[in-house]
Amino acid sequence: MSKTIIVSNRLPISLRHRNGRFEFKPSAGGLATGLGSIYKSGDNIWIGWPGNTVEDPEQRAEIILELNDLKMSPVFLTKKDVEQFYEGFSNETLWPAFHYFTQYMVYNPDHWDAYVRVNQKFCDAILKKAGLNDTIWVHDYQLLLLPQMLREALPEATIAFFQHIPFPSYEILRMIPWRKELLEGVIGADLIGFHTFDDVRHFLSAVDRITGFYSESGYIQSENRIINVDSFPMGIDYDKFANQAISKRTQNIVKKFRKQVGDQKLIITIDRLDYSKGIPKRIQAFHQLLKEKKELHGNVSMIMIVVPSRDKVQSYKELKEEIDLLVGRINSEYSTLNWVPVHYFYRSFPFEELSAFYSMSDIALVTPLRDGMNLVCKEFVASKTDQTGVLILSEMAGASKELQDAILVNPNDQRAIIDAIYQALTMKPEEQNQRIASMQASLKRYDVFQWVKVFMDRLDHVKNKQAELN
Ligand code: UDP
Repeated sequence: MSKTIIVSNRLPISLRHRNGRFEFKPSAGGLATGLGSIYKSGDNIWIGWPGNTVEDPEQRAEIILELNDLKMSPVFLTKKDVEQFYEGFSNETLWPAFHYFTQYMVYNPDHWDAYVRVNQKFCDAILKKAGLNDTIWVHDYQLLLLPQMLREALPEATIAFFQHIPFPSYEILRMIPWRKELLEGVIGADLIGFHTFDDVRHFLSAVDRITGFYSESGYIQSENRIINVDSFPMGIDYDKFANQAISKRTQNIVKKFRKQVGDQKLIITIDRLDYSKGIPKRIQAFHQLLKEKKELHGNVSMIMIVVPSRDKVQSYKELKEEIDLLVGRINSEYSTLNWVPVHYFYRSFPFEELSAFYSMSDIALVTPLRDGMNLVCKEFVASKTDQTGVLILSEMAGASKELQDAILVNPNDQRAIIDAIYQALTMKPEEQNQRIASMQASLKRYDVFQWVKVFMDRLDHVKNKQAELN
């Protein structure tokens, strides 16, 4: 019997060391939920880094044992691996390049060496578990070299790759000195998935120019097999968000929060701290709107949640300071004793409170400068069970390709953001209703479980096609 192995840089778990013991908290993130039906069944497993650097052999043994019960298997990274592979090459070279922030790219050969070394470490860990005919589904940009490493060891295996962040134009990719190795690494897979058709186009064009392999209708002809490349926009666990929004617990929180902010209009924004999210430009647009429309003072507030992330990286530290400054500026200029323009939280929230924020907000303002997909906008739409509310969405987010009934804006166009907020604040309930209902219908149909199914069905299809050609 063959099995399926899921691989990602991080295991869907958080690990805490307390009172001499490890505590394991499974993650409730969308990917973990969607893939739950796969890795939790039969002999299947999920392989990845548990998120802590643990050197002590006894502690490692304890983690291996505990994770085994959760159908997970750890790859242990050293402090140096984390610095050079994760914070270095992944987050200071690939992340900025793939999000078109070339000014933040670092070209460090030591980081590249660590990237190769850690991809090999993952490969070795997988080979200890994998059989010759297993299916291995590798996730995301930290592991671009892994499909080919696996292919060399397991020529008959079924290998898939999905990238959760954008794939940039060839003109950006070519700036990376190791672009050829990266592409050759990915095309070890049989099926390569991205969120959008534009990512697919960019990838195929780069493969053509850099590796010389020819492709037609989404199939690359490599030396000895065909490889399919296509877009599979990832959905959310729709019912989880819709059901939570109408739950007693969430509605009680909404009542409590509403008492505190009054009956003014609320604009919600939720992001991880990241320069790709366009947070400063969004605050500036809101500031300008308040400057132009005095009648909004006291009648609309922004609730801005920024989830701490990568705070050891210099560009993220600077971004945090910029946001603090801009929020300070708008609040000091316009706050009154009973109104604050921006309620700013630099922390994460439990799911029920997040759900309450989505549910009680009139507008979600989601304006990344570049985003592979963006799940926050989908979660907002799913949570608006009374079918009111307006989504303002950046056309640079992958989700904009599906959510055409949002008010779509160019996140660099301050005028467009200001006008969109005003349009949303004054939109008639019938129009809100019609837009939200149409977006809800498509998000419900193409949820994260459907995403997994469509991807796995395609993988079967590709393997059958390869067999026919042999
Ligand atoms: N999120 C969370 N806790 C919070 C705020 C946000 O778990 O306090 C989640 C949110 O529900 C969403 C994810 O973080 O699922 C952010 O995903 P998105 O695709 O929007 O952006 P990413 O961080 O992956 O770039």
